[in-house]
Amino acid sequence: MSNDKNSTAPAPAPNFLRNIVESDLATGAHDRPGLPSVITRFPPEPNGYLHVGHAKSIYTNFGLARDFGGRCHLRFDDTNPEKEEQEYVDSIIDSVRWLGFDWDYKGPVGAGNHLYYASDYFGKLYEMAEYLIKTGRAYVDSQSAADMSANRGNFSTPGTNSPFRTRSVEENLQLFRDMKAGKYKDGEHVLRAKITEDAMSSPNMNMRDPAIYRIRHAHHHRTGDDWCIYPMYDYTHPISDALENITHSICTLEFQDHRPFYDWLLATLAEGGFFEQPVPKQYEFARLNLTYIVTSKRKLRQMVEEGIVDGWDDPRLPTMAGMRRRGFTPEGIQLMCERTGVTKSDGWIDFGVLEGAVREDLDPKAPRAIAVLRPLKLIVDNFPEGEAHECTSPVHPHHPELGHRTFPFTKELWIEEEDFMEVPTKGYFRFTPPIDGNPGSRVRLKYGYVVECTGYDKDENGKVIAVHVNYFPDSKSGTPGADNYKVKGNITWVSVPAALEAEVRLYDRLFTEEKPDAGGKDFKEFLNPKALEVVKAYLEPGLKDAVAEQRFQFERHGYYVADRVDSQPGRPVFNRIVTLKDSWAK
Ligand code: ATP
Ligand code: MG
Repeated sequence: MSNDKNSTAPAPAPNFLRNIVESDLATGAHDRPGLPSVITRFPPEPNGYLHVGHAKSIYTNFGLARDFGGRCHLRFDDTNPEKEEQEYVDSIIDSVRWLGFDWDYKGPVGAGNHLYYASDYFGKLYEMAEYLIKTGRAYVDSQSAADMSANRGNFSTPGTNSPFRTRSVEENLQLFRDMKAGKYKDGEHVLRAKITEDAMSSPNMNMRDPAIYRIRHAHHHRTGDDWCIYPMYDYTHPISDALENITHSICTLEFQDHRPFYDWLLATLAEGGFFEQPVPKQYEFARLNLTYIVTSKRKLRQMVEEGIVDGWDDPRLPTMAGMRRRGFTPEGIQLMCERTGVTKSDGWIDFGVLEGAVREDLDPKAPRAIAVLRPLKLIVDNFPEGEAHECTSPVHPHHPELGHRTFPFTKELWIEEEDFMEVPTKGYFRFTPPIDGNPGSRVRLKYGYVVECTGYDKDENGKVIAVHVNYFPDSKSGTPGADNYKVKGNITWVSVPAALEAEVRLYDRLFTEEKPDAGGKDFKEFLNPKALEVVKAYLEPGLKDAVAEQRFQFERHGYYVADRVDSQPGRPVFNRIVTLKDSWAK
């Protein structure tokens, strides 16, 4: 199935996850009545805003479902009452949709809206915990946190059994019920799994009687004060997957060591009649690491809270809200996710790969426009005062069907400061004044007339404030004879009286260092002071009708978007999405 919103959707390349799904489809490994044979899920914890790494996970999970006709669930993994908030739930929903995916599945079988919350399973999770206790596979531990941690051992030392490990089933059940009833304080007891008799000496630390329930007298964003015990992630996650009939539970490599517990728990509960076989299977892939950013939720929060950036949607941040405001396209982000592939070993991807994918997505579809970002006045001395000649150019050079745009040529124009040089360097073909009896340079004002430079004005500080030219009335672009003028320079410009004055925000990478937080470095030392520059620019008049989130290529400068927050009708504010070329490439 293809996603028709996604015009640049690449043909899916094979990768190990797609191979697994294909082979499972071939053998019918997950065929069950009334259910699609591929069901994946994206399980964010609503404790922060999503970032580009999550985009990769969304793309991987929803993309697999899309490509194989299955469905993908959005599940909030909300088992941690203290840190979770509705604000995060809302922003996550927004971001997944914006990236182009939906949990509302159309079938052929198993259609419906597949949005879930782990907290909806609290009742069932509790019931299964009682089952584990009753079958001798869980016990209440009453050691102090310090003892518990000391007795877990470490990679080289086996753990030591808790003195409470031999409690009777009746005692465990009573204690667990009393924990639920609120008879104990936070931390007084925990419920732990007992996988095997000698599990505390397992080489895998995750198998050493992992905690599955803890006491937290805390208000939960959805269940309120109904519960004062909360299930742990490693316990909740496999069960949630099984309850939702997930077939392929895809996560990042750090969960590899958790897989034996995942498998043990589901096999045990299936044996107890809670689930039917086949139960979900976990597969791990390498997380996306991009250079020149940080993605740790803690560090992102720190930058927001310390005012280093202006909120979670600051266009400099790699959050999905930030990337959206920056003007990155969902299709461009998807293209980056596809290109970077799915692998089994960790590595780094250059940030330029993301920027390149966004450029590639925008080039064929972004309308062109002219913007003068660092204005210098150009005066056409022989042009009649008060007149305006209409000039025309294509909306897109390769898409004539998009039509034309028009703008006036007037006596006073804005050009870029860098398009004039008092003393030209070799190979400079823009505006240069008459020197030593030689005439000034001749250039074409793009889509307008050919002009010849006759002089310039300076202010009292020696700064050039205006350039003077004469125009050739028979040189207008698109008119017969215009080609008789051979010039080397082709300069962009806008009319002074017609120009739209607008704030333009020139964004660049947030850090100057490839791996700003690697190896214990303080990422704040590598903030790029040039990550944001705000200029007052003069734009082609038609841009006044730009609507929020509309994207353009400003000729010669790059891709820009009308800011979705600060743009007003008739008064857009533009953000630089990305320059035309990668100035960071080594
Ligand atoms: P936390 O430490 O708070 O758990 P997290 O980044 O894992 O942070 P989750 O909300 O648990 O946040 O993540 C949801 C899903 O996104 C998980 O399955 C996680 O593995 C995946 N994910 C997070 N970061 C990346 C990344 N850089 N690349 C690929 N997947 C990622
Ligand atoms: Mg996580």
